[in-house]
Amino acid sequence: MRGRFAPSPTGRMHLGNVRSALLGWLQARAAGGAFLVRIEDLDRARCKPQFVEDLYEDLRWLGLDWDETPLVQSARDDVYREAQARLEREGLIYPCFCTRAEIARAASAPHGLSEEGPRYPGTCANLTAAQVSERSRTRAPAYRFRARPGEVRFVDDLMGPFVQDVQALVGDFVVRRNDGVASYQLAVVVDDADSRITHVLRGDDLLSSTPRQLQLYEALRLPAPAFLHVPLVLGEDGKRLAKRDGAFALAELRARGRPREHVLGLLAAWSGLGDGSPVDLPALVARFDRDVLPHAPVVAREAQLLDALGLR
Ligand code: GLU
Repeated sequence: MRGRFAPSPTGRMHLGNVRSALLGWLQARAAGGAFLVRIEDLDRARCKPQFVEDLYEDLRWLGLDWDETPLVQSARDDVYREAQARLEREGLIYPCFCTRAEIARAASAPHGLSEEGPRYPGTCANLTAAQVSERSRTRAPAYRFRARPGEVRFVDDLMGPFVQDVQALVGDFVVRRNDGVASYQLAVVVDDADSRITHVLRGDDLLSSTPRQLQLYEALRLPAPAFLHVPLVLGEDGKRLAKRDGAFALAELRARGRPREHVLGLLAAWSGLGDGSPVDLPALVARFDRDVLPHAPVVAREAQLLDALGLR
């Protein structure tokens, strides 16, 4: 068993992120397996080196250790290009010159996955070589993967069977953006395969990305890991905890002098692994059981936080 935590260093970690890290770590350690950290910093505008240092510091403070030197995505473009070239040789990739506005206009219906915008209708799927060189003069292309038609099915270790028709819902999807950066979907597959990750545990905001990733595993002939998607931690407003929710930033709790066992107690309560009372990592490793993980989002209440941390 090899698990991982793959954060994007776009801000200080809040307790929602930390909970995913903890659960991934517990899953790996409870099985006597390895646990890796990977820095997903492809979004150069939002990622900052300081946040990477903060991340390591937060994980260390909690006692979550990792094996092997973390991969850093911004340093791995050669590897992503090599994978892209393999797909290209099989005719599974094509350049796309569409702008966002053009895709929005061409979309026949406003469906698709919210994070991806409308379904890509395949406008550039069959351009001739002459058309490609003509359009390349005025615009750098993105590159899209020809999504296989039909349903992709997999069984999530927590959420159970999941089915998605990637071609019908998302259409051909981007593996390299028009600014030259590899897409999350490609990078995550190449990296998890390179790191020989056997178990991916992450937030369920990525459940709907998994079928695309499974198509890439298949096209690259790489073995896919098992997936376990945990429902997110929401704020009292019903929206997912964000890095702006300062009260739930781990750094903030540390600064207020709270012992890690109190923080772990709260994270355990949010995971079906405790009643909120302080707990240490060895006890949680012994208690870890994926069958008790909640199937619905957890609401983080500030009052509960203050009680759990003995702050009032
Ligand atoms: N970097 C992604 C995030 O922070 C997680 C990617 C993954 O776990 O596959 O949301």
